[in-house]
Amino acid sequence: MHKVLLEWFEKHGRHELPWRQTQDVYKIYLSEIMLQQTQVSRVEGEYYPKFLKRFPTLKALAQASENEVLALWSGLGYYSRARNLLQCAKICKDTLPKEPKELMKLPGIGTYTANAICAFAYNQPVAVVDTNIKRVIMRFFALQDEKEVQQKAQMILNTNEPKKHNLALMDLGSLLCTPKNPLCDQCPIQQWCAGKESPHSFGKTKKTKREEKVIHFGIFLQSGHIAMERSNKNLYKNMFILPAIESAPKPFATFKHSYTKYNIQATLTLLNKRPPNTHLIPLQALSAYPVASIALKGIKKAIKHLQEDL
Ligand code: SF4
Repeated sequence: MHKVLLEWFEKHGRHELPWRQTQDVYKIYLSEIMLQQTQVSRVEGEYYPKFLKRFPTLKALAQASENEVLALWSGLGYYSRARNLLQCAKICKDTLPKEPKELMKLPGIGTYTANAICAFAYNQPVAVVDTNIKRVIMRFFALQDEKEVQQKAQMILNTNEPKKHNLALMDLGSLLCTPKNPLCDQCPIQQWCAGKESPHSFGKTKKTKREEKVIHFGIFLQSGHIAMERSNKNLYKNMFILPAIESAPKPFATFKHSYTKYNIQATLTLLNKRPPNTHLIPLQALSAYPVASIALKGIKKAIKHLQEDL
């Protein structure tokens, strides 16, 4: 099975992804952190190269300020990832540990990330289980209980080629063993797969129901600047956000945003007085500031709307 899986991977794998063309543990670690909660295309085309250009090594990152790191992360969401990344760099300075147990002592590194770093950067014989691999393993072994997945993944690991094996299963999960339409007829491991007759019975992902929430934001503009607050709440700690107002009887625009477990319906209201505790941020230089994604969305919407009104 190992041989056919790797042959399939050679032909069909996504070898062009930049983090697959490096052995640099920092670059692999960065990609794993960015890819949590964010689509490959956004990471690959925008945030990953931008971040590496500014901080090409862990050492360079270790000397950064939180402000600068958050500004580069701006728009990517889940900002604790950026803060943890910086903290890790400051703790490790030059390079990351090679043991999963040591890696898991670092902020923001759980089992998956530790295993991914060990397998992809150090080619260690560790089974990596992301959502794609989990689905493949559950179908392959016809498992109903996901508790066994890590152990089964380890059981079929190709210890001679752990990196390629893990990447092959990952790609198999995203290209063939997909959630809705698994292409079993094209699957290289079909003959060994216990779940091929009814793949939909295994590895279903549970949908998390999001809570609906309404937030009203105030927009105060003055000479090319916008009033923003520096958040002290956990989710957006130290990021700039739009000031919230209690009610919005006459909003000029609305927009939707989703994060963690919330679906937000946001409104925008023009204010004629600058709210207390706000800073005036130059609109032209917004990218130099750590601005929360929801605020960036609101500002874009407000500017578009106000320009149309001129
Ligand atoms: S045979 Fe079908 S269910 Fe089994 S691993 Fe391949 S694509 Fe998935």
